[in-house]
Amino acid sequence: MPALFDKSQSKSLRVLAVPAFNDNYLWLIHDGRHAAVVDPGDAQPILAALDAHGLVLVAILLTHHHADHVGGVQTLLQHFNIPVFGPAGEAIAGVSQPLDEGDTATIPELGLTLSVLDVPGHTSGHIAYVAQGQPWLFCGDTLFAGGCGRLFEGSPGQMVDSLAKLSSLPGDTQVYCAHEYTVSNLRFALAVEPDNAVLAARMATEQAKRERQQATVPSTIALENATNPFLRYQQPTILASLQASGRLAEKQRKTDPVAAFAALREWKNNFK
Ligand code: ZN
Ligand code: FE
Repeated sequence: MPALFDKSQSKSLRVLAVPAFNDNYLWLIHDGRHAAVVDPGDAQPILAALDAHGLVLVAILLTHHHADHVGGVQTLLQHFNIPVFGPAGEAIAGVSQPLDEGDTATIPELGLTLSVLDVPGHTSGHIAYVAQGQPWLFCGDTLFAGGCGRLFEGSPGQMVDSLAKLSSLPGDTQVYCAHEYTVSNLRFALAVEPDNAVLAARMATEQAKRERQQATVPSTIALENATNPFLRYQQPTILASLQASGRLAEKQRKTDPVAAFAALREWKNNFK
């Protein structure tokens, strides 16, 4: 039965959430034997998960330079001599394979290739990984379930362009973001778009998950497009909310489409 041993057969890959710190998710992509980790901010929970599942680490993928995403790299490299993929535009110790948009990260042990997108905004060199042959997006702190990352280094215009790239991925793409911020993001979303029925239903669903201590991540691009205010900032209700609360002038709204996004991000920064 040679077909059973055909190496070209696509393997059955899974993604495992490894919680870390208060609200981070470190993602392990594995085939039951080998694993790649996305954004290992802490090595200990990764080493424990590898041990518990009998996995060998074969690659590290990094989205951006923040400590809660890269803090475990050096310790993991003491245990495993493996490639470290990361953004070419950021100085991160240990990166052996710097990547820009259009590049790919290939992990032969998993039979997996991921395409790279430049998504600056949260940080200036932030990248995202889109798996080939699997409906998976690993987007770090750019797109969150129901929200987006803070603009620490980039401009609102950069973040708008970055989110547009992610928003245009196929609707069934699963969004593996790096934090469990969903319920608080959706509270803000409901404040700015109170008439969105899909959003209200989503809030109920996600709150129920949290009460059962389940992750609300991954989400999907289709659900984000239907409920995430940072992908929907041109919706009439959201524009009206921004204008009614004095955060966006009528004239600004007409001359500068990015102004609404910037005002929305600013509002979220101060939302309690
Ligand atoms: Zn970050
Ligand atoms: Fe983070």
